[in-house]
Amino acid sequence: MMPSFYDEGMLVAVLTTQPLDRALDYKAPEGGCHLGAFVEVPLGPRKVLGVVWRPGKGDYDYAKVRSVLRVLDAAPMRDEMRAFLEKAAAYTLTPMPAMLRLATRAPGLGDPPSMRKVYRRGPDEPDRMTDARRRVLDFLSEYGDLSFTLKELAELSGVTSSVIKGLVKQGAVAEEDSPRDLPFPPMDPSRPGKALTEDQARAAGHIAQAVQSGAYGTTLLRGVTGSGKTEVYLEAVAACLKAGRQALVLLPEIALTAEFLKRVEERFGARPAEWHSGATMTERRRIWKMVGQGQAQLVIGARSALFLPYQNLGLIVVDEEHDTSYKQEDGVLYNARDMAVLRASMLGAQVVLASATPSLESWANAESGKYTRLDLEARFGPAVMPTMRTIDMRAEKLQSNRWVSEELKRAVEARLEAGEQAMLFLNRRGYAPITLCRACGHQVGCDQCDARMVEHRFLKRLMCHQCGETKPMPTVCPSCEAEDRMAPVGPGVERLGEEAVELFPDARVAVLSSDMYGSARALKAEIEQIAEGGADVIIGTQLVAKGHNFPNLTLVGVIDADLGLQGSDLRAAERTFQLMRQVAGRAGRAEKPGTAMLQTYQPEHPVIRAILAGDEEGFWRAEAAQREAAGVPPYGRMAGIILSGPDVAQVFDAANALARNAGALQRVGAQVFGPAPAPIARIRGRHRVRLLVKAGKGVALQGAIAQWVGQLRLKGDLRLAVDIDPQSFY
Ligand SMILES: [Zn+2]
Ligand SMILES: [Zn+2]
Repeated sequence: MMPSFYDEGMLVAVLTTQPLDRALDYKAPEGGCHLGAFVEVPLGPRKVLGVVWRPGKGDYDYAKVRSVLRVLDAAPMRDEMRAFLEKAAAYTLTPMPAMLRLATRAPGLGDPPSMRKVYRRGPDEPDRMTDARRRVLDFLSEYGDLSFTLKELAELSGVTSSVIKGLVKQGAVAEEDSPRDLPFPPMDPSRPGKALTEDQARAAGHIAQAVQSGAYGTTLLRGVTGSGKTEVYLEAVAACLKAGRQALVLLPEIALTAEFLKRVEERFGARPAEWHSGATMTERRRIWKMVGQGQAQLVIGARSALFLPYQNLGLIVVDEEHDTSYKQEDGVLYNARDMAVLRASMLGAQVVLASATPSLESWANAESGKYTRLDLEARFGPAVMPTMRTIDMRAEKLQSNRWVSEELKRAVEARLEAGEQAMLFLNRRGYAPITLCRACGHQVGCDQCDARMVEHRFLKRLMCHQCGETKPMPTVCPSCEAEDRMAPVGPGVERLGEEAVELFPDARVAVLSSDMYGSARALKAEIEQIAEGGADVIIGTQLVAKGHNFPNLTLVGVIDADLGLQGSDLRAAERTFQLMRQVAGRAGRAEKPGTAMLQTYQPEHPVIRAILAGDEEGFWRAEAAQREAAGVPPYGRMAGIILSGPDVAQVFDAANALARNAGALQRVGAQVFGPAPAPIARIRGRHRVRLLVKAGKGVALQGAIAQWVGQLRLKGDLRLAVDIDPQSFY
């Protein structure tokens, strides 16, 4: 047992968020400190944040060891949390400082509790309105009742603080004193929930009982769109709160809507803590602290909410568990779904994985008995799954630069006449995926990446979807210098929107794409307005498939059902199947039956046929058999190693050296493939080379990989990233 308290002068090992390879020894400060305490320590000339991780090693001259500067006003990190971070680091092969950064993503953790000035909408109007003043007032009304610090309000509305002070004098903005961090209002789990069907009540009872057991367990809650998954897992949340434990509901960022929060608030009589990228710094700090003190009982959040310092977490719900956004693809490469299961198993907590179209991993875990599986078959209310059929595009004679078939066009017209909504789905942002010179055939590419630039007419720019680089639309060909010969090729949602306006001149057409709105909040507001009837024809990318309710939508036309089927990604079929099922599930949610029409050039493709047949079990079984035969996840283990650097020869040399010296892998029976240029061989000017590691299911892969890549000395600007269980093969 480690001592849990260290008196002044005793040695403690402090893990900091700085990129060092170990925890450093410090002397405990005056008054001593607890194991797990959040502290400030000197590092060179700086002061940095750290956590007392274990007793000091004492392998350094005691006289020269520096002291912890101070203990921060925050609950010490619990043993369980430290153990979780260590296990997560070992699983994802992430250095500990990076894990600690994930767990401390709230600014000002060291600030003392105190009062501060906050600003909200005041009762009066200013005597004179300027653009800057208008921006402040619009921003405040968009956020309703929330208040902000002066700095936040100035930054978020893009004005100087003197503009806000001016508005305060006029009474249009109110200045108030507020404690820095307020507890969240208590949830009332005893309020009655929605009436449940027999099916739902059985599932809810099952999970609630598991929660009450206080033991670990994972349940796969499968149900088609609208089958009442949310009602069911909210009952599990209620059981958890009643047991006096905290609950966490993870959602893909885009599904965290006002509509969803309203449902939660109605169920429990108070607003939960919301943790997402749009939360202000002040709010993040408050949530972090209150979660740690047990004064936030329920957190609804995007994936990083998993790393908050819960005191007594009893339930984690991962809604839309198949969603690819749970895999962090930048920095620490982790899958929030898998880490949720890991964390719960260490805590004696329950996990609910909810989805209409589960990932093959979760399906297989349920098949093998590792997870409990509960199915909700009946849709909530009278609606049923939409009728689905294909439109064989080989038989269609479309004009050039047209993508909507005659059959789909007529179907849309019929909905418009009936006063219903129709959706045209195309999973491609922007106006056109290719910009081509008609004189020489040159295609405009990104200067930094091996990717084509995508025209975004709405932004009047070409954009690289890999690195975000933009440039103006060229009028002269960058290759042959011919003038005015650049032409768009292929459709994106913006261009499809133009076609829809021409085809349906009397309809209100709305294009929904993540890049067309300034913020996630503005986008969600737009989606809600459209769902309430603000448009007749909705043109959308995959974001419309995520949890939004369009009660008046009765037709979904998929412009290119083949889009996801190409490519070498092992999950291509699974993704297409899930996406098409989800999109189709948007149609006919209320009283009106829906139809989904899939435009395809390969109607006989097994994935397209499985989608049409609605034979999910059949699809999974076939897909599982294929993966099992190939020995790939979830029936084998994989890891991607990406080496990158500015000099392509140097990157290949390093990758070849690794491939040649793979003894550590061979000893555990793992195989190395490559090196080969990564599917995207250059991003932001860095050349990327990939190695793939494949091993049997029971192999302890991480240790072998750590040993294997540990022998490579990364010289100069060379970087190495390890992706355990890669989701995509960038
Ligand atoms: Zn040209
Ligand atoms: Zn680029």
